[in-house]
Amino acid sequence: MTRPIANDAWAGVATTLAGLPAGARLIVPKRVVPPPSQAGATWSLGLWRGQTADWRWTLPDCRGLHAQDFGSSWQVHLDQVSPSCDLAEHVRRDVPRIYLAAGAITVVSLVATAVLLLTHARTP
Ligand SMILES: [Zn+2]
Repeated sequence: MTRPIANDAWAGVATTLAGLPAGARLIVPKRVVPPPSQAGATWSLGLWRGQTADWRWTLPDCRGLHAQDFGSSWQVHLDQVSPSCDLAEHVRRDVPRIYLAAGAITVVSLVATAVLLLTHARTP
């Protein structure tokens, strides 16, 4: 679901980030922007980095503006894919270590299941 950034200050943050290298983070003092909840963002979960909350906007091109609450400031970055557009692709592209860990767990689970089935099949 695409929700517009309903505030010029937050829209400016998104524009600034779009002009920076991928993965760049901005620290935005809370006094210069309204709370994300009042600017069209939705509460979300995020990989914990010490923040107390995560808020997201989905941009029209399916990138995501992600604001993390660090007390007196927001740490903000652009996600390559908003989880609202495609959760699996968001994890694969924006949180690759989680994606690789999930893949490894899946492979280990499949191998363990196969071993159990083969072992059980040979047991009289
Ligand atoms: Zn993010």
